[in-house]
Amino acid sequence: MTERLDVFMARANAAYYATRDPFADFTTSPEITQVFGEVLGLWAAVTWQQCGAPDPVWLVEAGPGRGTLMSDALRAIGRAMPDFAAALRVGLIETSPRLRAVQAQAVSQAQWFDDLASVPDGPLILLANEFLDALPIRQFVRRGDGWAERFVTDGAFTEHPAGPDGPPSADLPDGTIQERCDPAEAFTDDVARRIAAHGGGALFLDYGPEHSTPGDSLQALVAGRPADPLSPPGTADLTAHVDFAALAAAARAAGAAAHGPVPQGLFLARLGLFQRANRLARHLPMQQAAAVMEGARRLGEPDMMGRLFKALAVTRPGAPVPAGFETDPA
Ligand code: SAH
Repeated sequence: MTERLDVFMARANAAYYATRDPFADFTTSPEITQVFGEVLGLWAAVTWQQCGAPDPVWLVEAGPGRGTLMSDALRAIGRAMPDFAAALRVGLIETSPRLRAVQAQAVSQAQWFDDLASVPDGPLILLANEFLDALPIRQFVRRGDGWAERFVTDGAFTEHPAGPDGPPSADLPDGTIQERCDPAEAFTDDVARRIAAHGGGALFLDYGPEHSTPGDSLQALVAGRPADPLSPPGTADLTAHVDFAALAAAARAAGAAAHGPVPQGLFLARLGLFQRANRLARHLPMQQAAAVMEGARRLGEPDMMGRLFKALAVTRPGAPVPAGFETDPA
């Protein structure tokens, strides 16, 4: 069987999320410390105020995993901004029935959706952590003065001449790989259109470079270790770097404003990650307190997740700059 890489990746991840506990293979920020979801909940609350406190408003998370982020966010919102808590409706965009059941344990009042298109129109605040990196990518390889596209044939890469929808011509060395994630761009386009039309804000956290760079970023993890991306579908978690520059451009083309990307560490520090961790730790026994501080460090330190991970926000043009995206004075 021969499949285009994105078709293979979609099939592999659908099988993986349907049958496995992904969190046995990798640890995400909300699973490292509750402070992550709390801080994002406060970001959502400030964003809600900045867009005029609409009631009702959809608070939607895409790819919510175990539901930990939303559960922590709702707890922080309930404490800090009860008006927002009363106005919001919780939506979870999740395709895996297995993970929906896990999420229902963590977030009781949610409504589930297969995709953004099925979320009713209206003001929208959207959170997505490590969602876009799971969406299927295509890979093009520079061959001579044209492009080939990568396919998967019986567990190995094969190349076929790229069609007219390949990348624009470019003076790149033979063998250079150029990636593209059409579903991530389509998702961002849809989010941006909704926010431009109805107000709100979106926050994407994921890993990837600040500027678009050529190269092969497809990776597979099994039990926390790198594995062959072409392992049999369902055995490994497949991800690729998120092209933030392409997504910011997609958001602007759809009529919204894009902010960032800024390194996750800077973004979380500006939102008070370390102060909140400190405050939480003060009331905990020593060992748990140490774990909270270590978790905050893992998320924020540049040599851990603070630099590789980035935050990108989408708002209505002319809306205030979202929290954490203030540009430093030159
Ligand atoms: N945000 C979570 C989980 C990240 S794993 C965390 O930070 O812990 C990726 C999540 O996206 C899983 O919940 C997976 O089932 C979901 N997902 C992957 N592809 C999807 C798609 N096309 N549509 C909706 N959800 C998807």
